[in-house]
Amino acid sequence: MTGGERTVSLVTGGNRGIGREVCRQLGALGHTVLLTARSLPAAEEAAAELRAGGGDVHPVALDVRDRASAEQAARETRERFGRLDVLVNNAAIAYDTWQRAATADLDVVAEAADTNLYGPWRTTQAFLPLLRAGRHGRIVNVSSEAASLTSMGGGTPAYTASKAALNALTRMLSAELRGEGILVNSVCPGWVATDMGGPGGRPVREGAAGIVWAATLPDSGPTGGFFRDGLPLPW
Ligand code: NAP
Repeated sequence: MTGGERTVSLVTGGNRGIGREVCRQLGALGHTVLLTARSLPAAEEAAAELRAGGGDVHPVALDVRDRASAEQAARETRERFGRLDVLVNNAAIAYDTWQRAATADLDVVAEAADTNLYGPWRTTQAFLPLLRAGRHGRIVNVSSEAASLTSMGGGTPAYTASKAALNALTRMLSAELRGEGILVNSVCPGWVATDMGGPGGRPVREGAAGIVWAATLPDSGPTGGFFRDGLPLPW
């Protein structure tokens, strides 16, 4: 089986929250969607639900903390689809509202970095050959306005530092891959009512829409930017 004429898109942490909704919206746009999760049963369950809604959604196991898992997912993608067009680095952990930078547990900081920074980094490295084989190379790093140095205050140190470094990765990758037509951007989904965001945020549909916008940019679209709802945010 190959991706054929459909755009082939992969989302990390696609089993719940914003990632699941990004999978749903990309499926509704006609993409072939690789819904990945660190738990294969969780990916299978979410993909089955989205397929029942009409999307061409396929479950794949991918734990972003594990290089071997990322490489296995890339092998599976190559065998089944031959390429990747869109990579959405969505999976993240550790919104550490209970910590302050001055006293932070650095083990928590390191765990956050392993998932939120090295996760997208190792996933991108594993899939880059497939993105190069694709037609529309788009990488979306799901970030947060908490990472904006311009407005940064104290608090959530593990999360904030990991996302600020993720924004740096966006800048470096965008500069390195621009010449190959691969567009790399950071997107803040806003405050969204998920397990991470808690109650009171906006619906996942709205938070996911800005990620889908960056995932479906035309070839003339921006790269190396930081956006929410398609509008630039200050770094
Ligand atoms: P969420 O509801 O907590 O979901 C997080 C997702 O990441 C889950 O699917 C989780 O899988 C997955 N994940 C965690 N560690 C993983 C790993 N090692 N490998 C693969 N998947 C892993 O979070 P969310 O609110 O949807 O957040 C999605 C993105 O938006 C994150 O990057 C977050 O930082 C960003 N964001 C969210 C908000 C907000 O208000 N919600 C605001 C700004 C930015 P499991 O089910 O296996 O745990």
